[in-house]
Amino acid sequence: MKALVWEGPFEMGIKAVEKPRPEKGEVLIRTKSVGVCGSDLEIFRGDFAQAVPPLILGHEACGIIEQVTEGVENVKAGDRVVVDPGIFCGRCEFCRKGTYWQCDHRGILGMQGYDGAYAEYFIVSHLSCFRIPQEMKWDEAALIDILADPLHAMDMIPLQIGETVAIFGPGPGGLSFVQLAKIGGASLVILIGTREKRLALGRKLGADITINVTEENVIDRIKQITEGRGVDVGIEASGSTQALADTLKVTRKHGRVMVFGIYSENASLDMQDMHRRELTITGSSGCPWSMPRAIDLIATGKVQVKPMITHRVNLEELESMFNDGIIEQRKGGYIKGVLLL
Ligand SMILES: [Zn+2]
Ligand SMILES: [Zn+2]
Repeated sequence: MKALVWEGPFEMGIKAVEKPRPEKGEVLIRTKSVGVCGSDLEIFRGDFAQAVPPLILGHEACGIIEQVTEGVENVKAGDRVVVDPGIFCGRCEFCRKGTYWQCDHRGILGMQGYDGAYAEYFIVSHLSCFRIPQEMKWDEAALIDILADPLHAMDMIPLQIGETVAIFGPGPGGLSFVQLAKIGGASLVILIGTREKRLALGRKLGADITINVTEENVIDRIKQITEGRGVDVGIEASGSTQALADTLKVTRKHGRVMVFGIYSENASLDMQDMHRRELTITGSSGCPWSMPRAIDLIATGKVQVKPMITHRVNLEELESMFNDGIIEQRKGGYIKGVLLL
């Protein structure tokens, strides 16, 4: 079969590889759509330590089940599914406590230890599969993952009705947070970024106020909007350590900060301020059982993911998207790419 194989920093190309064979409890899936994620870019550059080449990337994966194996009951051949990319052992302390996404032996499809879906076929455990509605389009289905992760983060914050929220980073994750905060009852959603096109989309999707940090001082502006108080909840979804430092500063005393971005360096944070104002800082990773809700939110039109898709590509075009810097430099107004097979 054809696959896009990552062979080390800045080395990725289409190769003929052997079609994977599912073992007991696994299913073989014919790839239909895969979201292109910011973390794929980290891996491509060699900035994601857990990724070891050669590796087929692609973790925001959807497809049709081609073959099931012994012991598989929840899905059957022909089912249209989306996949939770987290892979867990089921035996360690965290799995047995029910917090399987923090598994000591955690793997991630297409990122860590397991080949992903930038290929004609891929395999996963049947436990990773969630059926999607017949009417849902494949491009939309590829964005279930990018909604399910923020949904898990929202569960961890958690947001109270009427609270104010600042979201740093108007990428697909941040744009999902905007919509979830509105559904969750936020009285004010402020979206912060550097690119006007993304901020404009954020306003369309529900952000009450947007702040372009290339034009305005975000800390002064949020202080002014909230009359010096700061927001109840600060969400950092850009992966910028400067933005993380700012998120802390714009969040009120006793406020909650969600660390959601993927960072390639350590941040310099005002620890004294954290201590003095008694902030709560929480990380969030993965989408434990939030996929069924993400599917429903998209299927019912409560959350819109389609406006985020700027590039629909085949495998050859995806290869050049990485190698020509289209994703890295956000060429052509790039927000979210989807591989369609
Ligand atoms: Zn992703
Ligand atoms: Zn485990």
